[in-house]
Amino acid sequence: MQVKRMLLAGLALMGLGFAQEFLTLGSGATTGVYFPVATGMAKLVNDANVGIRANARSTGGSVANINAIAAGEFEMALAQNDTAYYAFQGCCIPAFDGKPVKGIRALAALYPEVVHIVARQDAGIRTVADLKGKRVVVGDVGSGTEQNARQILEAYGLRFEDLGQAIRVSATQGIQLMQDRRADALFYTVGLGASAIQQLALTTPITLVAVDLGKVQAIAKKYPFYVGFNIPGGTYKGVDVTTPTVAVQAMLIASEKLSPETVYKFMKAVFADQTAFKKIHPNLERFFDLSRAARGLPIPLHPGAERFYKEIGVLK
Ligand code: GLU
Repeated sequence: MQVKRMLLAGLALMGLGFAQEFLTLGSGATTGVYFPVATGMAKLVNDANVGIRANARSTGGSVANINAIAAGEFEMALAQNDTAYYAFQGCCIPAFDGKPVKGIRALAALYPEVVHIVARQDAGIRTVADLKGKRVVVGDVGSGTEQNARQILEAYGLRFEDLGQAIRVSATQGIQLMQDRRADALFYTVGLGASAIQQLALTTPITLVAVDLGKVQAIAKKYPFYVGFNIPGGTYKGVDVTTPTVAVQAMLIASEKLSPETVYKFMKAVFADQTAFKKIHPNLERFFDLSRAARGLPIPLHPGAERFYKEIGVLK
């Protein structure tokens, strides 16, 4: 009955000449946080029946998402604030140095993405410096994680070449390698409680390696987006101590080519009901604050998002 009604409604809309607009949202590994968040946003906008059909796509992460928007393959994506800034400026990391991507716009700042350095307990890794000579998953091809891994190693005087192996695979494959003892440690810049790390902790004794904010601040001129962040004890099975590390921010971004009308409709469908929005993921429940979602953005705000924030009084 429900389905039939929806079909009829859809046909009626088509009959009236309302075109459906299709949006693809770039996310990350299915075991990360981007993927469930993007999937949840797509569901909210689809359920709102505002003439938008959205779907989430699994990708390598921030860099891949930004490049896919530039190439016109995706209309929206999740991306780290640091990576979005480097892309827009055309600086600072190999992927974007001298190759600015001007066609991305900000929609919202979402939640902290925490640099996790997960080590197998039997690998004898206590500090970042101990990663020297080890087999380390440094993030997927096209990830923001890989950029953070490179920068944090740099802060400790190490390069990828100093590792035994710098392995570029998805988080899903990475935890497999850790379980099989084919990797000793794994970097993952991701929202707290990502299922990849939770799954790994269930099968393999792990530790979390601390990142010293002071060391990172020494390179903060080059990479100013890091803030200190404590991973609470108990977030992952077997890790009961609190681990100090650094974090960046997850953002929702869109192509500048997307019309203000479409972005406005999307924003309203996804963000207006905060109870429904926060149900998408515990990281949104815990960290998202609509009144701050348009603050401190590293790239220009999309005019459709601006209209939404003005309408609800978040922006003047
Ligand atoms: N921040 C990660 C990246 O861009 C992705 C995290 C996630 O998928 O939740 O590499």
